[in-house]
Amino acid sequence: MEETYDAIVVGSGFGGSACAALLSKRGLKTLLLEKNAAVGGKAMTMSKEGFGYELWPIVGAPSLDSQFHAVLKELDMEDEVELLTPPGIGALVYKGRSGRYEMPPSPTGEQEDDGPLALIQQLGLTEEELPEAGRLFADMTSMPAEEIEKLDNITLAEFLSRYEVPQPIYSYLAMWSNIVFVVPIDLLAASEAIRTHQDFAKGGAMRYSSGGYGRVAEVFVQGVERFGGRVITKARVERIIVGEGAAAGVVTEQGIFRAPIVVSNAGIQPTVLRMVGEQHFDKTYVSYVKGLIPSWGIMGVRYFLSQPVFDRGVYLAFSDDSVMDTERFLKAKAGEPPEDVITFVVVPSLYDDSLAPEGKQCALVGTICSPDPDAPDAEMWWGKLEEMVDKLWPDVERYTESKERYSSHHVSTLTRDHVFPGQGGECIGLAQIVGQCGSQKPSARAPIRGLFYVGCDAGGYGCGTHQAVDSGVNVAALVEREHQTRASMF
Ligand SMILES: Cc1cc2nc3c(=O)[nH]c(=O)nc-3n(C[C@H](O)[C@H](O)[C@H](O)COP(=O)(O)OP(=O)(O)OC[C@H]3O[C@@H](n4cnc5c(N)ncnc54)[C@H](O)[C@@H]3O)c2cc1C
Repeated sequence: MEETYDAIVVGSGFGGSACAALLSKRGLKTLLLEKNAAVGGKAMTMSKEGFGYELWPIVGAPSLDSQFHAVLKELDMEDEVELLTPPGIGALVYKGRSGRYEMPPSPTGEQEDDGPLALIQQLGLTEEELPEAGRLFADMTSMPAEEIEKLDNITLAEFLSRYEVPQPIYSYLAMWSNIVFVVPIDLLAASEAIRTHQDFAKGGAMRYSSGGYGRVAEVFVQGVERFGGRVITKARVERIIVGEGAAAGVVTEQGIFRAPIVVSNAGIQPTVLRMVGEQHFDKTYVSYVKGLIPSWGIMGVRYFLSQPVFDRGVYLAFSDDSVMDTERFLKAKAGEPPEDVITFVVVPSLYDDSLAPEGKQCALVGTICSPDPDAPDAEMWWGKLEEMVDKLWPDVERYTESKERYSSHHVSTLTRDHVFPGQGGECIGLAQIVGQCGSQKPSARAPIRGLFYVGCDAGGYGCGTHQAVDSGVNVAALVEREHQTRASMF
């Protein structure tokens, strides 16, 4: 028998699970369908042999007053998970003028400031460089919203050319573009960058969660059921049913489910090109969707260590030569990678010691790569990244009990379908670049009545999972309005 709902949400990533939980809490009869056995999408938490960990390095920002806090509060589920920002948890490892990577001292346990201004003090600026660096960050931090909006068509690199930016600051912001948005500084929309920088400056960065980063999505999913909704895992949506120009439900192996509202967390491109089908859209919209550009990918290695090697929960290692702009990325793609690669490390048990057996550590390490699940250069990036780890943390090799490599191929298999060449393994979702941000961000409302997108492709802004949850909040409001409109008309 076919079941009928007010709204069906396809996918339990941070965007889909936040949206479904809010809809359920607000009284809509909601069904959440997830193709995987576990929820949380790209940021799900796994467990194995006493370790709790994500499949790759994930930490969140802003740390305080985030949309994570807002959704948990509305669900009245703040006690189910603790949002963690221990003092001195993160560090920059920068190779600048000294010509070697400067490893930070071990944390003191005292409250250290992890805000962007404190972090840039680790970059070794000269006395002469400090005032201009201060002017740049002060302008970015205090810029009013109406000025930020004017920067949708300016890249962050173009915005920085208005200042005499010291090289270490340029490299820091290029690394930040690579790691936070997973795009190059010379394509990142300055509006998106500055809006996000303001959140980081106010709320800090490098938040994690008790029980694993994915625990928050698990709580959102519990919320769906707590407020009367239904959740089905291992339920891949094969098709979104469209009748008379409106969404009508979904087809899965486990049956057909009907609803006048379908919210897809599966990515705009897979939704339009595979799940709904091009024939239901006009040609201009299909060309627009095909032309949207994904973020780059992150690939790397999970190390399971028999002894603790790391003493900070997050490291960002980079040099003036390893940060990626468009030209360097194309050169690397053509077989000429930089000598060193950006190295992003997260150690979950340094946030929550229940996430590793006593005396052991799991370290999740990543670097930038192509989003193409079929990219032929994965071996090269793994080799480069492992060399960096050996150079910066020589004890890793000695204490590695096992290691697992991952790439854009694994990201795509886990979450986003590969529906045309070069797409599927994107780290974030659609790239937050000029032409795809602010007023030009894809609409969360599809041109089919009752069909919406949620997650990193539409409806939010900011860093990865935070963008997804922001979208969850905004799309839930759109869907609620659609539901009320329908209720008042039919
Ligand atoms: C290597 C790596 C490192 C990252 N590091 C960070 C970080 O440090 N900080 C940060 O904030 N973000 C980070 N991110 C990005 C962040 O994880 C994502 O941007 C965010 O989780 C995306 O959320 P989402 O809701 O948009 O979609 P997704 O997480 O992609 O979720 C989509 C969900 O839909 C499901 N689905 C897809 N198709 C179907 C279907 N047909 N039927 C049913 N279900 C379906 C998928 O299984 C998945 O659960 C990282 C990502 C990667 C890959």
